[in-house]
Amino acid sequence: MEPLYKEYVLGLSYASYIFVTYLNYRQLRKLHEGRPKILTKLVTPEEFDRFTAYSIDKSKFLFLGDAFSQLQNTAVIYFNLLAWLWNVAGRWLSSAGYSGGSEISQGVIFFLLISVISSITALPFSLYNTFVIEARHGSKTLTIGSFFVSGIKGYLFGGAVGVPLIATFLYIVQWSGDRFYFYVWMFACLFQLVMVSLYPTLIQPLFHECKPLQDDELKGHIENLARRIGFPLGKIHVAPSDPNKHTNHGYSYFFGFSPNKHIAIFESTLKDTTRDEVCALLCHEFGHWKYNHVMKLFIIHQIHLFGIFYIFSHFINHSGLYRAFGFESKPALVGFMLFQYIFSPFEGLATFLTNALCRKQEFQADEFSKRHGYGESLRAGLVRLNKQDCSNLNLDSWYSTYHYSHPPLVDRLKGLVKTE
Ligand SMILES: [Zn+2]
Repeated sequence: MEPLYKEYVLGLSYASYIFVTYLNYRQLRKLHEGRPKILTKLVTPEEFDRFTAYSIDKSKFLFLGDAFSQLQNTAVIYFNLLAWLWNVAGRWLSSAGYSGGSEISQGVIFFLLISVISSITALPFSLYNTFVIEARHGSKTLTIGSFFVSGIKGYLFGGAVGVPLIATFLYIVQWSGDRFYFYVWMFACLFQLVMVSLYPTLIQPLFHECKPLQDDELKGHIENLARRIGFPLGKIHVAPSDPNKHTNHGYSYFFGFSPNKHIAIFESTLKDTTRDEVCALLCHEFGHWKYNHVMKLFIIHQIHLFGIFYIFSHFINHSGLYRAFGFESKPALVGFMLFQYIFSPFEGLATFLTNALCRKQEFQADEFSKRHGYGESLRAGLVRLNKQDCSNLNLDSWYSTYHYSHPPLVDRLKGLVKTE
């Protein structure tokens, strides 16, 4: 008897849907609890109510979005829609004159088809999110034109990166045979290194330009701080804030090759914050640098990636897996997607563990900033930037542990008080 892959994947997706919905429910319940004590002096009741109303709207909308994607997933799995799309891609190729079509070109068309279809099905949700929820709560000023322009821009960029990436992946698998996992992993590793080093210097400027920091007094403070810590400071830039980015981290970033590292501070980080608060936030980033956090995460990530490709290499030729989802051939790209379905519980566990490590690193970096005399300013700065983002200030612990790599604001504030 063949293993019941399809039943297993469907069952798994419902189990995970129920779990995630339960987390959403916990989060929604938490939002009705009122202002946490630690925020009493930092956030006014009016501000808190405003952020909470926004979070409640988003939280309710999440139930709808999740239910829709669960239905969509069920249809894709139950009706073998991936196999159908794969055949459509094949027919397009042969009608364009590529008879017998190569797996690489078919894989690329298949990837593009999936991306187009999923953007179309996601469109009503992202329209509602931007023009109803965001508009109701004020902060966003996107017009319908700029919404589509930025969407298409991101889409073209995704294609420009995704298509060569997938073609190379498939080429390596074909070329290297049984040991493909090693070569694919090497390629992924190199690609990430190149992206990390080139992104801020070559790619980011294509979208928006960095300016040098004008505020000489702030510059002096940052230079002093860097000297005290031994940070090899290069130039200090101001980067325009990305309007689409709604994050609870990333107030600044470092780039450039050693020995000197340049700093780019987001415009929004400088807005309304005091010089001490900016230094406190930067000192937190210096803490990450001092403890080699980025390197540690990178290494763990590479071990994880190697594990995935290695285990995948035991599934790639397993015809039963492909047959279970309606495939007659064994295309590597499809194999990798099906493998991810099967492997998702282990992936979930891995994400959970790396998130736990990230949270530990955040507390360490906060502690570092505090040790250099910025405890008070870091608290004020974090609160101010969270207000600016209209962040959810009342996160449920289960919800944030599962979804976020960064600790909730309230926990960070508590951590900063505790070590005083
Ligand atoms: Zn951090």
